[in-house]
Amino acid sequence: MNVAQVRLNGGETVHYDLVEDFSALDLGMESISFQAPVHVQLQVNNTSRAMLVKGTIHTELKATCGRCLESFIYPVELLYEDEWAFRALATEDLLETALLLDKDEIDIKDRIFEQIVLALPMKFICSAECHGLCPTCGVNRNLTPCNCEEGTVDPRLAALAKWQSND
Ligand SMILES: [Zn+2]
Ligand SMILES: [Zn+2]
Repeated sequence: MNVAQVRLNGGETVHYDLVEDFSALDLGMESISFQAPVHVQLQVNNTSRAMLVKGTIHTELKATCGRCLESFIYPVELLYEDEWAFRALATEDLLETALLLDKDEIDIKDRIFEQIVLALPMKFICSAECHGLCPTCGVNRNLTPCNCEEGTVDPRLAALAKWQSND
């Protein structure tokens, strides 16, 4: 992203529409990968103090559901906002709070990737209603209702119940 034009004029805003292929990047979890390019729409505003970069990040990930183990598309929609300042011109507070630039190029790719990683959930679930796999027969209960008895109890809990009834 070249900000030379914005830099020269205080108050100026320029829009950027970027599409980046992140598919080679490792998201740190085996079960997740990029399914679509990353689409970034940003506006860069020269506030005279710094470059205020704001916008949205859109992409799709392919993830594996933690309950039913099926893969599904996980949409990513994030807001992005950062302040970038030229190192040579930055005031002391900007040196602490802003991201620093040495030239007219903002290399935003790393920063965008970081935002996506930070927004990932701890666990991917295909839908809040996902019934998962049957603990008894292992069938995907979203696709095939099985005939296993309702209320089949976890063997550890069954042992506990038995122990309590002996009391
Ligand atoms: Zn699922
Ligand atoms: Zn079953």
